Amino acid sequence: MKRYIVQTFGCQMNVHDSRRIEEVLEASGYRPTDEASIADVIVVNTCSVREKAEHKLMSLLGTLRGFKAERPDAALVVAGCVAQQEGERLLKKAPHVDVVIGPDNIPDLPGLLRDAETGAPPVARTVFDLDDPRFLVASPRPGRPEVTAFVTTMKGCDERCTFCIVPTTRGSERYRRADQIVDEVVRLVEGGVKEITLLGQTVNSWYEPERVAEAKPRSKAAPSRSAFADLLRRIAAAAPGLERLRYTSPHPRHLTPELIAAHAELDVLAAHLHLPVQSGSNRVLRRMSRRYTREEYVERVTALKQAKPGLTLSTDMIVGFPGETEEDFEETLSLVREVGFVSLFGFKYSERPGVPALAYGDDVPEEVKDERLARLFEVAHELQTAHLESLVGSSQRVLVEGKSKGGETFSGRTERNEIVHLEAAPGVDPTGHVVDVEILEAFKHSLRARMTSEPTPAMKEVAAQRGRVALPVVGA
Ligand code: SF4
Repeated sequence: MKRYIVQTFGCQMNVHDSRRIEEVLEASGYRPTDEASIADVIVVNTCSVREKAEHKLMSLLGTLRGFKAERPDAALVVAGCVAQQEGERLLKKAPHVDVVIGPDNIPDLPGLLRDAETGAPPVARTVFDLDDPRFLVASPRPGRPEVTAFVTTMKGCDERCTFCIVPTTRGSERYRRADQIVDEVVRLVEGGVKEITLLGQTVNSWYEPERVAEAKPRSKAAPSRSAFADLLRRIAAAAPGLERLRYTSPHPRHLTPELIAAHAELDVLAAHLHLPVQSGSNRVLRRMSRRYTREEYVERVTALKQAKPGLTLSTDMIVGFPGETEEDFEETLSLVREVGFVSLFGFKYSERPGVPALAYGDDVPEEVKDERLARLFEVAHELQTAHLESLVGSSQRVLVEGKSKGGETFSGRTERNEIVHLEAAPGVDPTGHVVDVEILEAFKHSLRARMTSEPTPAMKEVAAQRGRVALPVVGA
């Protein structure tokens, strides 16, 4: 039996692609292993959004050179955005790589591995499926149901922010048909999944593919209506057993009044949104080509919070974008406070190949970027701590996703996405259930709680079965 291991860098889209890579390999008879040394196929699913992620890949490939020298029969595969961006060039930089495969070519992987086994030379397959887009379907795992799952709605991006390489590595926008998306959600929910996250580079710009030409506004102004809001309504109606519905990553330009209204209407929509803003300065936002102003962003998130009381927001920020002055950065800090983000991913600007921002030059010194990032994190930490501490003593509903690392407690998330570690009574396994908890303590990024719901017979039964499975067989 051949074994594989997948190492994933980057965003949730990559995590989703990695699961699809695992599925196509398993359908071809491969089985997973956690041990790279015994793997017959090592897949590195890469990210090229930041320079740092690309450096990490090159350093990992350097380490794997020794592995390939010892195990020439094993195949080394590079997938994801760096694979798409570099293609054949990657084979020249790292000649011990056997297969370079773009995100749209995952179904071809088993065939390319068979070719490699029979002595075919290293190959790069990085063709976009622009005319006939393929969307890999997530399947419920028999015998090991997952609590949460991702479902792809669209891929690619037409926004063309000046710093971003995604339009190059993922191509232009292609949309999946609503009936396929809804069917996949229904099947996953019937298979035991409780929370679905809809995925797309600009997920809320989704359109029914047949209707894009007539319905999608050609202008770059903010669209006035949202086909995506209709999709959310269809999913909510078709999958009443779904506990929570999330989506990522939305673009602020497509947060229309209609989508905001859907948040008010649909209880299944979680009370949290990760809405990347990137800067608090209108001058920088314009140079980034984000196509909204700080005021428009604030106006939309204020309306969203009014539509769904209690909703929290997180975001992405870039510091040190070309030309960013101290005043611009101060505006970023003031926006973080004004919106009250409960968590934030901050990044230092780094140049990516071929992006329009290269024309500006990377003129903010590295030590200034470091200092701004540290100040940004300080404000973000202050807000996050205040938010988590405000929840101590409150009652929350948590979807339990499984055992915490270390196995002593369980962990899950509130509908606002706070991570909660909870203690359950002995012999109770609440995985896959929404339970009531009392928050006991706030940590740096998470909460500690105690389960207050009465355990159901199903929770005790699962715990008993797990106990039986875990027992070693002694004798016969
Ligand atoms: S919206 Fe902008 S940052 Fe996001 S993927 Fe598209 S180009 Fe990149």
